[in-house]
Amino acid sequence: MQSFEFIRPTDPGAAIAAAAQSKTAQQGADVRFMGGGTTLIDLMKLNVETPSRVLDINRLPLDKIEPTSDGGLKIGATVRNSDLAYHATVQRVYPVLSQAILQGASAQIRNMATVAGNLLQRTRCVYFRDTAMACNKRGPGSGCPAITGHNRTLAILGASEHCIATNPSDMCVAMAALEASIYIQGPKGARTVAFGDFHLLPGNTPHRETVLEPGDLITHVTLPPPVGGSKQFYLKLRDRASYEFALASAAVVLTIANGNITRARIALGGVGTKPWRSPEAEAALTGKPPNDATFRQAAEAAMHGAKPQSENGFKIELAKRCLTHALRMAATS
Ligand code: SF4
Repeated sequence: MQSFEFIRPTDPGAAIAAAAQSKTAQQGADVRFMGGGTTLIDLMKLNVETPSRVLDINRLPLDKIEPTSDGGLKIGATVRNSDLAYHATVQRVYPVLSQAILQGASAQIRNMATVAGNLLQRTRCVYFRDTAMACNKRGPGSGCPAITGHNRTLAILGASEHCIATNPSDMCVAMAALEASIYIQGPKGARTVAFGDFHLLPGNTPHRETVLEPGDLITHVTLPPPVGGSKQFYLKLRDRASYEFALASAAVVLTIANGNITRARIALGGVGTKPWRSPEAEAALTGKPPNDATFRQAAEAAMHGAKPQSENGFKIELAKRCLTHALRMAATS
């Protein structure tokens, strides 16, 4: 690990001013915000992240979970994953979010990891984490050895010829299905980004993972008011039962009335280069009866356009079965 300056700002303005001196908020950034540090410190030990300045944001007033005036929920950037998962309102009206968080990482990591840190989780692609290897995400233009190498866990949706890395988050999959919004303060002021617009596809710039600009600080996330009577479920399939990343996961939010699905919000994890909302699956469900035939059609629609790599073709059928079962579980909950 390289030496770095460690600063603990106590108000967001000071944090943003210090971070705005960064040349880039993306890969290789010379300034980083730190919440729980559960990803950042790991990557600094590996020399994948080499900031010269680390800004500890744990003294900022961003650790509250509060109701919003419209009946939704405001979640501060430094709220711990465990606190969010066990929050009474989350468990009662946004259970898909609680379920997703509790299937991620380990209890110890969830106790440290923050909401904003989870939004910015970086890929587990083995080449990205090994500085002896080329990687377009870590070193733009250096190449992507995963395309001809180990890619069993990598993406089948949203990949490009420059990067096929999977977004590893569980929390983000549930937030995509819940249509969360992300609030950002930066040198140019405050702005709100819809969840689906926050993460970027790799395209020919895989080192750019989000819309954040230098100095941008995520202050909080909001969830819209819950849809009355919605049925929710998060299913995660992985190589072992705990402390493992998804090979495929599905977050499902359904409303059923008079024997038909009237509203569906579907997102997938473990298969996309970003948390993968599926409007195709949602369209295939809406207006249909909640039965296995409908669920299978939705799963087929969700995988439309999926492109397997040499080792991960199994994910197409796995993701279909994952979504089908998640829909079944939600509909009968
Ligand atoms: Fe790097 Fe992406 Fe290729 Fe992995 S898949 S080696 S992260 S460019």
